[in-house]
Amino acid sequence: MSDRNPRSFFIHTFGCQMNQADSEIVTALLLAGGYEPSPDEESAGIVLLNSCAVRENAVDRIGNFLQQLKGRKRKYRSLVIGVIGCVPQFEKQPFFDAHPWVDFVAGPDNYRALAAMVANAREGARLLKIDYDHRETYGGIDPVRAGRICAFLPVMRGCNNSCAFCVVPVTRGRERSVPLSRLLDEARGLADSGFREVTLLGQNVNSYLDAAAGCDFADLLEAVGRAVPGMRIRFTTSHPKDISEKLVRAIAGSPDICRHIHLPVQSGSTRILQLMRRGHTREEYLRKIDMIRSIMPDVALTTDLISGFCTETDAEHRETLSLMQEVRFDSSFMFYYSVRPGTWADRNLPDDVPDGVKRARLQEVIELQNAISLERYRQDVGRTVEVLAETESRRADSRLMGRTGTNRAVVFDRGGFGPGDLVTVRITDATSATLAGEAARE
Ligand code: SAM
Ligand code: SF4
Repeated sequence: MSDRNPRSFFIHTFGCQMNQADSEIVTALLLAGGYEPSPDEESAGIVLLNSCAVRENAVDRIGNFLQQLKGRKRKYRSLVIGVIGCVPQFEKQPFFDAHPWVDFVAGPDNYRALAAMVANAREGARLLKIDYDHRETYGGIDPVRAGRICAFLPVMRGCNNSCAFCVVPVTRGRERSVPLSRLLDEARGLADSGFREVTLLGQNVNSYLDAAAGCDFADLLEAVGRAVPGMRIRFTTSHPKDISEKLVRAIAGSPDICRHIHLPVQSGSTRILQLMRRGHTREEYLRKIDMIRSIMPDVALTTDLISGFCTETDAEHRETLSLMQEVRFDSSFMFYYSVRPGTWADRNLPDDVPDGVKRARLQEVIELQNAISLERYRQDVGRTVEVLAETESRRADSRLMGRTGTNRAVVFDRGGFGPGDLVTVRITDATSATLAGEAARE
């Protein structure tokens, strides 16, 4: 234990891609402050948890982790522990008070203060910084990226919606967009450094707006496509209310923008969608899907679904199943509803679907999605697809792992190819989550 390097840090990242991108920003800020990344947690003198508050079980995981760190701090007293991200921003002072072995907490708009907070912690000060700064987009920071092939590029932060179940407007504050000119510079920088794919990130990426440049999200996609030709462009997460025909045409018009839209629907019932305050009905969602598919028949659509939201009846749950049958999503992130303290739903609606019923409905949703995914993935067997190779497969280094433009994971015999190559792959097999194949020459 005594061989921990007091200047080295290790970050555990929980939750969404936005948190992963934030950890890359935090790494850059700590490096600039004179700290160094540790290859593993065991030798780090500073351990940070970048936390997620979206669901109760994510918060429970952080709690368990903090109990382990408490034990480690007893053995190694100068270990500095910081919790950053959405949990402290959401739970505020009571969270800090309940975890006296945590040296500091910082919310998502306070990362520029982190290096100083570590130094203060070493001098015995316990600090909490959870101010909102509605202009903070971390300009001037060059994130230290985890990979060398695919990069995240946050284009906006925060959320102005008010979905009844969701903590994000509290944890991440109001929407603000990164100026277009900075994003284009950053995208070019990524291309110059050899990155092959960029994912434009935002909680509501399609409400991006640089008013001064007269640029909305569709304009941004086109501009990035022009700035870095040949680089694959992805984006997430889109909100159904902001998917416009202009945006879909921008995607369809560029060979580099991936034909994949992640479009969370949450429920197939209009009554539940209204209670969720999502801002659209089942029919409006389905009309958007028709519009997207009429312009891009080969698009891949994925979604998020919540089972057992307040007052959901069995018939309304079946409406979710029927919507899934109708749209036939490629894949979904599926959750059962967990009430989050202080949200609109917590204050105004009964969390009255019994736990067992929530779980049983979720299980039905998962089983249906698996069947649909398997059927869709099997349609690729016998075809060739274009795959950006990302890594060597965990099981055998003769195989590579990558993704299609439609975001399907593919494991394939590498032939002469390596990570970073765009490979034509003949698909020979499929499960509900992965395609398998072999590199083919045209
Ligand atoms: N901004 C995105 C949108 O509106 O679609 C999603 C952001 S949220 C971090 C990711 C997903 O977590 C949501 O789409 C929802 O399905 C799920 N989620 C959020 N709050 C939840 C809750 N209280 N219980 C269960 N799932 C929840
Ligand atoms: Fe949460 Fe809704 Fe905002 Fe998504 S759009 S982050 S679900 S409040």
